[in-house]
Amino acid sequence: MTVEQVRPALRVAVVGAGPAGFYAAAAVLTDGPDAAGVAVDILDRLPTPWGLVRSGVAPDHPKIKSISRVFEGIAATDGVRFLGNVELGSTVTREELLELYDAVVYATGSAADRHLGIPGEELAGVHGASEFVGWYNGHPDYVGREFDLSGEHAVVFGVGNVALDVGRILVTDPDVLARTDIADAALAALRESRVRDVTILGRRGPAQASFTPVELGELRQLPGAVAVVDPADLKAAPLPHALVPPPQVRRNLTVLQDLAEAWVATGEPDHRRLLRLQFFQAPVALHGDGRVEEVELERTSVLYDADGAPRAVATGERRRIPARLVLRAVGYQGSPLPGVPFDPQRSVLRNEAGRIVDDDDRVLPGEYCAGWIKRGPTGVIGSNKHDAADTVELLVEDLRTGALPRRGDRGDIVDLLSQRGVQLIDEAGWQRIDAAERTAGAESGRPRVKLTTLDALLAAARTP
Ligand code: NAP
Repeated sequence: MTVEQVRPALRVAVVGAGPAGFYAAAAVLTDGPDAAGVAVDILDRLPTPWGLVRSGVAPDHPKIKSISRVFEGIAATDGVRFLGNVELGSTVTREELLELYDAVVYATGSAADRHLGIPGEELAGVHGASEFVGWYNGHPDYVGREFDLSGEHAVVFGVGNVALDVGRILVTDPDVLARTDIADAALAALRESRVRDVTILGRRGPAQASFTPVELGELRQLPGAVAVVDPADLKAAPLPHALVPPPQVRRNLTVLQDLAEAWVATGEPDHRRLLRLQFFQAPVALHGDGRVEEVELERTSVLYDADGAPRAVATGERRRIPARLVLRAVGYQGSPLPGVPFDPQRSVLRNEAGRIVDDDDRVLPGEYCAGWIKRGPTGVIGSNKHDAADTVELLVEDLRTGALPRRGDRGDIVDLLSQRGVQLIDEAGWQRIDAAERTAGAESGRPRVKLTTLDALLAAARTP
């Protein structure tokens, strides 16, 4: 049998082993030319798969994390390989991938924090939420990070689900967090935390918040803490009569009404930690002597454009509130990948519906993208399933029409990287890491105790 005869009908590399990457792999398997003839390698720069499901989803959200079982099923399918510890650019180049595979799907997500662009953002004590999230989730990039939890007050900018996650983790009873897979170092720091009063700030009104109702609803019952909304904020936010709020907004407003009642009932804070949600507050500046001490805000009101779009308008009314820790949860942005065209305006890869295009909008055959690096950081995990399927539909169409460059058999990435001395983490290696973490977790009544350094992860992958 010649090499050409055993070559699969379609070889695809997926770069990024998060939700979009796994869903793209699954779509190639189901929609590809003939399942038996399809080979998909899912590469990740970390030794661990699942992307944000491992290192983004909050540790007190185990139900959301259970989607990893679906990814495990995909990884166990014939023709699919997980290959961790492979970074595009440093371990393998884009050109090499294009030689080795018929198609490459980039699914690297949006890992960087957006900035506020206000004075004082460089002060110590001001961080992007992704750093904090990466730290409490044991992402190797954030191991050893320190957050100043010695002050009573913390401020979170943004009223989306990430703001809810970081705010909730700051106020939740650490004994409750101790039963999760939160990183040990974060748990220890949170046990010592003196943060008692966390304010989540929206620059527009409650009807414009991007929380999802289920996540917001969790604030009704926080272990060891109480969440409150100033009732005045709800009164200040009438929607235009002509505008029927979508169901998500209506459900959010119901939760916020409950929290406003909690505010009335709570009055002044009791022994519990306080999570405040405040609206109509735009960030103006951060003040402090070397490190942040105060946040300056300007009151806004919301005006509706002729087309019904709600805009924040500054009122000139300013105030300052104390904060020793400031987290920006104002959205994520994608980062460029070496050699792949990037759209700096939208912080996504340059693409047309998932086909990578060059600076002149010409399609680059054989290159695709899926998930947040394609459309930006929106939607929940499941949104990536449709997104990835849409991209793969184009890939399969290109295969059918002959638009995919058919390359000869240039060998296997595993051989190439072995020659380079790279410690590849395959599915078996990841299973060893997983078993080590779960075993450590079982000893202390937790789902897992995460290994948080690259060295520890690589060592666990080697240990039979
Ligand atoms: P997001 O939902 O886009 O929210 C960003 C927030 O930042 C908005 O409230 C936005 O306000 C605000 N903002 C932006 N620029 C600002 C500025 N300069 N000053 C003040 N506020 C500013 O982003 P995210 O919270 O990072 O979430 C990203 C995605 O992940 C979302 O789709 C989210 O649902 C998802 N996610 C889901 C979960 C879950 O399901 N449990 C958990 C975490 C994240 P404006 O609206 O006024 O711009």
